[in-house]
Amino acid sequence: MTSPTRNPARNSRISGFHKKSPAERLAIVADFAGLDAASAARLSDTGNLDLGLADRLVENVVGSMNIPLGIATNMKIDGEDLLIPMATEESSVVAAVCNAARQCYDAGGFTSSMSGTLMIAQIQAVEVADPHAARLRILGRRDEIKAVCDGCDPVLLSFGGGFRDVEVRVLDSQGGPMLVTHLIVDTRDAMGANAVNSMAERLAPHIAEWTGGRVYLRILSNLADRRLARAHAVWPLDQIGGEAVRDGIVSAYHFAAADPYRAATHNKGIMNGVSAVVLATGNDTRAVEAGAHAYAARSGQYGSLTRFEVTADGQLSGSIELPMAVGLIGGATKAHPTAQACLAILGVTSAERLARVIAAVGLAQNFSALKALATTGIQKGHMALHAQNIAMMAGAVGDEIDRVAAILVERGTVRQDVAQAVLGDLRGTGG
Ligand code: NAD
Repeated sequence: MTSPTRNPARNSRISGFHKKSPAERLAIVADFAGLDAASAARLSDTGNLDLGLADRLVENVVGSMNIPLGIATNMKIDGEDLLIPMATEESSVVAAVCNAARQCYDAGGFTSSMSGTLMIAQIQAVEVADPHAARLRILGRRDEIKAVCDGCDPVLLSFGGGFRDVEVRVLDSQGGPMLVTHLIVDTRDAMGANAVNSMAERLAPHIAEWTGGRVYLRILSNLADRRLARAHAVWPLDQIGGEAVRDGIVSAYHFAAADPYRAATHNKGIMNGVSAVVLATGNDTRAVEAGAHAYAARSGQYGSLTRFEVTADGQLSGSIELPMAVGLIGGATKAHPTAQACLAILGVTSAERLARVIAAVGLAQNFSALKALATTGIQKGHMALHAQNIAMMAGAVGDEIDRVAAILVERGTVRQDVAQAVLGDLRGTGG
């Protein structure tokens, strides 16, 4: 909370802020914002993340932000039962996965596959006199390119990864032709951003020399379409509530496939599940989200990442395919103890397995959202937890939260003003 004593002479130009300790930084921030002692203490309580580690993961640390970690049950993937750790602040996300998984469990659950663990790094060259001839010159240097890339990362090589291929594209851009070299690299159990960025930077001077052009950007593409995770499940009619539900779900998919306004929300629901597992395992949510949305727009029109159709014997068949650049080492995956615990809960021992599990979670999430939308509507399932949030916003504490929430749900009016009135009645203060 900010207090009325917010420092009026506050100045955001703070010299040497990054060199201070987290406690010193927090004191500066508390003074700047007029934080009361309780708020400052809450920030500095980093829970299950060591403050020293937090200070090494990102810059200018003052504390940590805890997000609930829920476990989705009922998941069976490729014949194996799994418990799925999900880090999310949004209500109903964990429950949605449990429900979807329960309804296809007896039919075998999910099957999954992966196209590989290949990442793409891009090197941009401009001012190339003869871009099509330069393209061939680069392609002719494949062996040298492989040697430069593999020389960057002997550890990756020792784990079976490394350079796999080179592609060169001539792009028509607003600034004229642009030569874009793609390095295709197997990054195995690493997400691979640092690994391939290093290779692109090491190779860049050679590209400049071979093309006679000027090299600017050297970085991975988050459109990781050589790293596609896929999952599939069949939901029997008797589990989902009959033909009308099945047809409603298929129609909801058709809507998303035909309309970007709907597809954005459809895919947001998928990412509710995907991002929660990506975050729980210490992976880069933004990288996965960027890849997913770019992939959803690959035809030129933004569309659905999932498909729903009817099997030959009339059951509901759902499938998903999306880029899934996640790792088990690198970034926060290895360093963050909670991420390590989540990986242990999942029992995954390869980045590929993790990616496949996440794809299945995305499909499960989407099934539940579409089923709710096509039948009772999304708000009914959301109401119980939403009512608790509203009760807390109205000032309810302890037992009051459940009591106020129950009355809101019973009345069918989950609003803060109503919650305040109900709370007032409960406390005998008249609201
Ligand atoms: P990293 O560089 O920390 O670790 C990867 C390295 O670990 C490999 O290069 C290899 O040398 C070594 N390694 C050890 N065991 C391995 C195994 N079994 N398989 C593969 N490699 C093994 O991490 P990274 O995965 O290259 O990069 C991930 C980080 O990069 C994330 O934190 C991400 O947020 C960040 N990042 C993302 C972007 C982006 O998405 N646009 C850009 C820059 C950085």
